[in-house]
Amino acid sequence: MSYWFDTLPEPVGARPALAADIDVDVAIVGAGYTGLWTAYYLARADPGLRVAVVEREVAGYGASGRNGGWCSAFFAISDAVLAREVGLGGMHAMRRAMQESVDEVGAVAASENIDCHYRKGGSISLARSSTQVRAGLAEVEQARSLGLREDDICWYTGAEACALVGATSVLGGVYTPHCASLHPARLARGLAAAVERRGVTIYEQSPVTRISRAGPSGAVNRLETPGGRVRAEIVVQATEGYSAELPGKRREVVPLYSLMVATEPLPTKALESIRLRGGLTFTDGRHLIIYGQLTVDGRLAFGGRGAPYHFASGIETSFELVPKVHDGLRATLVELFPEIERVEITHRWGGPLGVHRDWYPSVNYDRAGGRASAGAYAGDGVSTTNLAGRTLADLIAGRDTPETHLCWVGHRSPAWEPEPLRWIGVNTGLAAMRLADRSESRSGRPSRLAAVVDRLTGH
Ligand SMILES: Cc1cc2nc3c(=O)[nH]c(=O)nc-3n(C[C@H](O)[C@H](O)[C@H](O)COP(=O)(O)OP(=O)(O)OC[C@H]3O[C@@H](n4cnc5c(N)ncnc54)[C@H](O)[C@@H]3O)c2cc1C
Repeated sequence: MSYWFDTLPEPVGARPALAADIDVDVAIVGAGYTGLWTAYYLARADPGLRVAVVEREVAGYGASGRNGGWCSAFFAISDAVLAREVGLGGMHAMRRAMQESVDEVGAVAASENIDCHYRKGGSISLARSSTQVRAGLAEVEQARSLGLREDDICWYTGAEACALVGATSVLGGVYTPHCASLHPARLARGLAAAVERRGVTIYEQSPVTRISRAGPSGAVNRLETPGGRVRAEIVVQATEGYSAELPGKRREVVPLYSLMVATEPLPTKALESIRLRGGLTFTDGRHLIIYGQLTVDGRLAFGGRGAPYHFASGIETSFELVPKVHDGLRATLVELFPEIERVEITHRWGGPLGVHRDWYPSVNYDRAGGRASAGAYAGDGVSTTNLAGRTLADLIAGRDTPETHLCWVGHRSPAWEPEPLRWIGVNTGLAAMRLADRSESRSGRPSRLAAVVDRLTGH
């Protein structure tokens, strides 16, 4: 499936599927980070609560087991947009909560003995052209004007950035310490074991085909799977990029594919020149996002966008392998680090992540209907899912906490357009990003096209 699943410490055997009708207090659909963190905090706060997680494949099968392993404080909506829409107070509350989430993931991994290679080394966005230098400096200046401090985000000169990352054409970089790198599948699988130790049952290979109200006055929720039904007072939908496959949810979330490659372990000389020490993650200032980390066994795990959106929010395993995009990722890696030209790519994979129409992730809870959901992290889900899980657990338990007042709680995004408009819109956006990068590297000037797409995507 991915380099991450290939390097798990033990083989992945499926847990038993649901094979009878059961009654629980909380049923969670999806055993990715959102579902597992929610189960974890529910069970930790109330060991007597009956919680079941129902997963179509195996825990960590989705984006949670395949991602780039950036556990960062990045939130899909930029600080500037948040400040404008919810005020400086709301923006700072979200920022603090995201920063705490990065540390919370590390703290739980340590306390639950989840060996997920958590290393808080920060993140750098390299500026590799004069346009990217101007954009990077403007980003830091804007952050300062919003009240972010030097120890939240800062500008590194070319020499300083080069000392961290031995990439080509580095003229500077925007650095933030609020990011850790980790092994995503080890986190997902370790978290699944941790919730089981706390009394939660996980049913694998149990696709939920329908969620409905049941009982004489519709008092409980009912999940249907081929092997049995789950009756539950509360249902949590934690299916992120896969949500469009559930009945009635087709226009809720668009599945966008992100693709990755991993190299063989790098030779010592390349490791020395590339640097990337201590778990530092890296990207650069291009518009069509790229992201990378050096794994603990000395490989580059590197990904990017650019795979097409498929008509009617289609999801298929064949969409995870796009030779043109994977070859493009390899070419970009070699352009960044020419010394790895002869290094082999050992793994290629990808997967869908979820995006709402207005790019806002959200956490929702309808107490009366007993329905909860969280997702659409738009590619920034590794730590955001932890915040979602803590928040959902608070909402379900009726606890009034700072997390339950964050601006994304209760946020309702509009539905995506019907097809074919959705297909045209999303793929035009992707093409626009590609064109913007080309035009910036040719002309040396910021692309106006990129500014338009940025406005549409919460930046
Ligand atoms: C290639 C890639 C790279 C990424 N890189 C990063 C990164 O570096 N940093 C970052 O912050 N974010 C990253 N993301 C995003 C991040 O991984 C996701 O936002 C996050 O993992 C979402 O977690 P989740 O639990 O909500 O969803 P998922 O992990 O997708 O879990 C959903 C689960 O629901 C199950 N499911 C679906 N339908 C049903 C059904 N009908 N019945 C039962 N179960 C069902 C699926 O099998 C799946 O296991 C990346 C995503 C991808 C794909």
